[in-house]
Amino acid sequence: MNIEKRSLNTLEPYSVAPRDEDPRAIYLDANENPYPQTFTLTNATFNRYPESQPTVLIERYAKFLGVQPENILVSLGGDEAIKLIIEAYCNGDEDAILCSPPTFGMYAIDAQVVGAKVLTAPLTQDFQLDVPALLESMQDAKVVFICSPNNPTGNVMKLDEMETILRAADHAIVVVDEAYIEFADQPSFASRLAEFPNLAIIRTLSKAFGLAGIRCGFTVANHEVIRTLKKVIAPYPMPSPVVAIAESALTDAAIDQMKANVARIQATKSHFIKALATLDCVNKVYRSDANFVLIEVTAADALMAHLKNEHIYVKRQSGAFSDLIRISIGTDEEMARVITALKNFV
Ligand SMILES: *Cc1c(COP(=O)(O)O)cnc(C)c1O
Repeated sequence: MNIEKRSLNTLEPYSVAPRDEDPRAIYLDANENPYPQTFTLTNATFNRYPESQPTVLIERYAKFLGVQPENILVSLGGDEAIKLIIEAYCNGDEDAILCSPPTFGMYAIDAQVVGAKVLTAPLTQDFQLDVPALLESMQDAKVVFICSPNNPTGNVMKLDEMETILRAADHAIVVVDEAYIEFADQPSFASRLAEFPNLAIIRTLSKAFGLAGIRCGFTVANHEVIRTLKKVIAPYPMPSPVVAIAESALTDAAIDQMKANVARIQATKSHFIKALATLDCVNKVYRSDANFVLIEVTAADALMAHLKNEHIYVKRQSGAFSDLIRISIGTDEEMARVITALKNFV
């Protein structure tokens, strides 16, 4: 007899591409950073529980963002932040989240796990917010997710339209997911907490900082929101080795290194986009403000099989978007191999 709770019956276990099983593989399916920084742990004793919310790490990240430490909650990746926000604000069977597909899948998955409804206001043709639809559905939602730059489309949302949604949020939390903001020209909402009491920003060290492996993310919000999230988060969420590495990633020198890597990825991206434009199998290249590019292709099934055969892993979208393929920006060599593979696709 299946005794799992009903809200899980329609869900599948999350599936991700394997890592490091194939030495020839190029992994461009998870928007990882191709430039690792190397860290060493000193003072590695672990008999004590870690700090509940690590002071030095929070101080450094607060300084990086220009906010106060009381505005930051550290969690196991942005992924945990999404989960915490939904748990803190949504009762199953009663409350709903609202998001704008095509967007990050975890919003809907985490909502379903707690039994909350998932309302959608799909993005417009040019992948911008459908403001009237959002304003209407917001009446019935406790948490609204805006992802900017959006995964998987790659573009930022228009600033004034995000502001419209934020201003209208009197009985909903508006989450602005800024996982890729370091790659965008548009400013973060972090400096604007005072204007928007119900704003919660999600940030991560997984993308621009190249630390996907340590699982460190942040919620940036007004103190009252942080206080609510602290009711839900585990007493000792952050393992001490993770905290130690995250702290070293936020020194001035490491932040400069991060910015240099972002610039390198931007340069690789513009070359890659130019090369894509010359290919017959690519119908459209979408504008990207992130470390990945979304393309529309003609024969997605065959193309995916061809790339797999070349040991290149990319992320194809599903359902109505199955002509769309998201390709993370790796090194110059990796992207040259992708272009060669696409050229050879007939
Ligand atoms: C990668 C990502 C995150 C956070 O990832 P973590 O590795 O859990 O920090 C959050 N939102 C979006 C849209 C992402 O792509």
